[in-house]
Amino acid sequence: MDYLMFCDQCGTPKPIETYIMREYFWIATQVYCSNCHYANPIPSYLQSLALEMREEENKRDN
Ligand SMILES: [Zn+2]
Repeated sequence: MDYLMFCDQCGTPKPIETYIMREYFWIATQVYCSNCHYANPIPSYLQSLALEMREEENKRDN
C-alpha cells in the first residue's frame, strides 16, 4: 500500500511507495516536494512505521 504525503507549502500530494518508505524513511528526515521543492519534514509516525517495516523484513530474512 502506498502512502500519500501532502506538501506543507503548496499542498501537492506525493505518493510514497512502500519500498521508498522501507529503504529511505527510517533514515531520512525530509522529503522534497516534486512541485515546489520545499523540504517537508517526515512525520515521526511515518518514521516509526518505516522502522517497523524494516524489522518485519529482517524477521522474514532470518
Ligand atoms: Zn510543494
